[in-house]
Amino acid sequence: MRLVHLAILACAFFATAVSAQTYDLVITNGRVMNPANGLDSVRNIGINDGAIAALSRDVLYGKEVVDAAGLVVAPGFIDLHAHGQREFEARLQAQDGVTTQLEMEVGTFPVADWYARREGAAPINYGSTVGHMGVRIATLLDMEALGIAGKGLELNSEAMAIVSQQRAWMDDAATAEQLETIKQRVQQGLDEGALGVGYGINYTAGATREEILDVFRVARRNGVTNFVHSRFMTEYNNGGSVDAIQELIADAAISGAGLHIVHIGSSGGNRVGYLLGMIDDARAQGLDITTEVYPYTAWSTFIGASIFTGDWTTAQGMTFEDIELPSTGERLNAQRFQELRASAPDTIIVGHGMDEQNVTRAVAHPGVMIASDGMVYDANGRAHPRGAGTFSRVLGYYVREKGALSLMDAIGKMSYLPAKRLEGYVPQMEKKGRIEVGADADLVVFDPETVKDQATFNDPALPSTGYRYVLVNGTFIVRDGAYQEGVYPGRPVRR
Ligand SMILES: [Zn+2]
Repeated sequence: MRLVHLAILACAFFATAVSAQTYDLVITNGRVMNPANGLDSVRNIGINDGAIAALSRDVLYGKEVVDAAGLVVAPGFIDLHAHGQREFEARLQAQDGVTTQLEMEVGTFPVADWYARREGAAPINYGSTVGHMGVRIATLLDMEALGIAGKGLELNSEAMAIVSQQRAWMDDAATAEQLETIKQRVQQGLDEGALGVGYGINYTAGATREEILDVFRVARRNGVTNFVHSRFMTEYNNGGSVDAIQELIADAAISGAGLHIVHIGSSGGNRVGYLLGMIDDARAQGLDITTEVYPYTAWSTFIGASIFTGDWTTAQGMTFEDIELPSTGERLNAQRFQELRASAPDTIIVGHGMDEQNVTRAVAHPGVMIASDGMVYDANGRAHPRGAGTFSRVLGYYVREKGALSLMDAIGKMSYLPAKRLEGYVPQMEKKGRIEVGADADLVVFDPETVKDQATFNDPALPSTGYRYVLVNGTFIVRDGAYQEGVYPGRPVRR
């Protein structure tokens, strides 16, 4: 308090002499790391009205001043793959350094309702694509008859439990008439401000290659990017992950639309290295293609998903015992798996068995972004720990302990690169992912020597540690290491 008063007095005293300005908030003496231009040096940051107003070596005066000596000040992390966007998950992500969470893969439909539900109630910034899956559900199922018309189709929701019992949206091909409706509804979602088009082709096996290409063409007409979970994630030579990524690269080339392939670690299986080479070569040919990874060797989905049709254990090179129920920690066997798939298809499971070397390779590979794929936690606060620990696990384990990549590269993969992925058609993103005058004051202040994920498969909702401050639009959401209850500075990100 005393310091603040002194700063104000000092400011008043020298105002005429040096025309010093008093900022709403000043962060002093931090090691500012800005991946947009490589700046890695001690600076003072002045913040006014939720935006960065000054970045300087000189002393800045603030109504409030916080000291960041010895700490890194970086752009807030931008998660392109956040399914869990209720307060429970947003709070965990904020404590993992995330200031913007975007639901780009599954997406949503209808789009305007999704944004309306979050208005004024979001701890961090939020946004979504229009989801091909949601559009397909609305088009191939009779939503009125199922009693879920107008209900949000979010994971772990009542409506989703009903939808997961229905197979038409997963397994059936769309008729010509239905395909027209699908394209119209994707357009409607984009007209309502969606951040692109999201797909889970692996979950909609009935969607033909023509259907996916035609929706890519809708994206191209609107100048937006497709965010895609590829058709297969198996080890087969025919119908495996190489085929699946070739389909998407071909669709990007034919349509001219941008493509972002989600979670290359889980989708790539043992072919991660080969697939990264394919993506690099396609980019070298001028195609707009990117990818992302979450830093864990286990994946998570619902047990009724089409990926478990047929001989999936051979296809994935897995056993039934690799499947865990995160709600209890139970490992399954074939009989228990089939029972649950039939009786409770919306049950969330975790699959163990990715190769650590492949995950490390993707985390460290130039241009690959970090995105959590964080799930909605169940009523007992259980889910895959990636929703709580992804960003700190990269900083603590992959940067500090393994030395797999530099701190600056890691920060870039979590902030600047995701902003760049979107800013071509989402002007708001030009003000995120960087520390410069005029940018949004979405900032993280952390100790690079101690930052660490705490969430585990046994205890998946433990917040990460090492963050002194997290600011969303200039407002503290984490302060002196503590989450700030009842504060909702998050704003919508829309096209
Ligand atoms: Zn996915």
